[in-house]
Amino acid sequence: MLKLKRAEEIEHLRENNQIVSKTLAELGRMIRPGVTTLQLDRRADEFIRDHGAEPGFLGYGGFPNSICTSVNDAVVHGIPSDYQLREGDIISIDVGTIKDGFYGDSAYTFTVGEVDEQVSSLLEATRESLFKGIDQAMAGNRVGDISWAVQDHAERAGFSVVREMVGHGLGSNMHESPEIPNYGKRGKGPQLKEGLVICIEPMINMGSRSIKQDRDGWTIRTMDGKPSAHFELALAIRNGEADILSTFDYIEQSST
Ligand code: MG
Ligand code: MG
Repeated sequence: MLKLKRAEEIEHLRENNQIVSKTLAELGRMIRPGVTTLQLDRRADEFIRDHGAEPGFLGYGGFPNSICTSVNDAVVHGIPSDYQLREGDIISIDVGTIKDGFYGDSAYTFTVGEVDEQVSSLLEATRESLFKGIDQAMAGNRVGDISWAVQDHAERAGFSVVREMVGHGLGSNMHESPEIPNYGKRGKGPQLKEGLVICIEPMINMGSRSIKQDRDGWTIRTMDGKPSAHFELALAIRNGEADILSTFDYIEQSST
């Protein structure tokens, strides 16, 4: 069953996702060689609480920290640590909040200084594939229309789509139905309806799509050790169209 949200529920979700978006921008301003992923985690925890919310990931399924920090070949679910960012790294930061009983959830892959040209195109293609998916998020379309658009864009750019992890519905739970895979067929899957709130989150690999889990029980890495990128936004279907609840504007306005 899909939980369709009323207008006031969507406003709670918007508030959460705006805090998430501002947290990502705050972390983006800190990113430079030498900063540890744990420093980013500590700042995120403080920033989220200063904005009247709680970190949505802390303790979620036993996750030990307030954000996920996934560097280079880490796809998602990386645990913050004393690892110091280096020139040329990429880092996906995934932030969640909970406030007034609703969740926020979005992610962005940042560059640390100058990165390889091919890494740059991976990030660009992944970000674009998210927006190709969002273009399909309208009432009457199906989940498969989103999935296909993401996959088509990423694969045309020469990259591969992680299959095991997917986007999801968002509400008073972090993960609700429906699943939003980043691969699929047009016209298939559940129909998108007024009041549905979803997160679209392509996880795109430079090399093969195969992944493995670290012995830490959380970090997902590419099998071939090549980089992976991850971008995520939350949106509601309202008046038939995508009403995007989180944003990269704060990040991209504050970058130099
Ligand atoms: Mg998510
Ligand atoms: Mg997320």
